Amino acid sequence: MKTKMTSNNRLKIRAVALDLDGVVYEGDHVIKGAAKTIGSLRDKGIDVYFVTNNSGKKRASIVNKLNQMGIESTLDQIITSGYAAAVLVNSLCRTQQYRICIIGSEELAEEIIQFNRNIVDEPPAEILVVGLDKAFNYERLSSGLIALRQGAIFVACNRDRTFPVGNNHVLPGCGPIVAALEWAGGKEADHVVGKPNTMMLELIADKHGLKPDEILVVGDSIESDIVMADNYGSPSVLVTNNLEAANTDTISDFRISSLNHLPQVFLED
Ligand SMILES: [Mg+2]
Repeated sequence: MKTKMTSNNRLKIRAVALDLDGVVYEGDHVIKGAAKTIGSLRDKGIDVYFVTNNSGKKRASIVNKLNQMGIESTLDQIITSGYAAAVLVNSLCRTQQYRICIIGSEELAEEIIQFNRNIVDEPPAEILVVGLDKAFNYERLSSGLIALRQGAIFVACNRDRTFPVGNNHVLPGCGPIVAALEWAGGKEADHVVGKPNTMMLELIADKHGLKPDEILVVGDSIESDIVMADNYGSPSVLVTNNLEAANTDTISDFRISSLNHLPQVFLED
């Protein structure tokens, strides 16, 4: 275990930002000991937030999923890239009645609708939001391209190539859909709200009055979770099955094999 984190800045940690897939659950299966670990963090007065690039599910669905796994949570504790996109779109609109075209799931649309914004099925639109869309097809690609050619602001939830579905299987993520729109439109997304960008951590910090070094990021992906922590100036813990291989070149402060071991990292001496 690397010990970049000194006992001094250990004391600063007031909140933990947990990645979900691969850390708290794997597909529909809770990771053994996750509920107990989260409970013991909370017992010590550490706030626990769940930070995921998942743009297909709304926060309320993730609350339900966690609650069914024996992990109590509230909407306030869940930040998804879909929710972050909704917050950003809301701030881009300000007082304007911008039309918003969405390539993504019904639940992504529901996150944006909560802000009473003007969602349209087809262009013309002033904002194009792209998330994970399991019904993505040529027609949707065409709609997105029309919006981009009209000058729509391009908001992408994340660039994840794949997402895990358990048993070592993965499916194509939001990233390939974003890439298709970028390639067709000949321009990069104007905003990418998900990891490794820091918007989701900023939302937590701003709302709860936390500083970057008071939030410990825990995740299983170096390129999304650990790079996000590094970009924001937060300490991080990499969850990995391969502690040896990860020892050499990760920028994380600590490495653990499972969430079970998290309390030992900073709650105990
Ligand atoms: Mg993960």
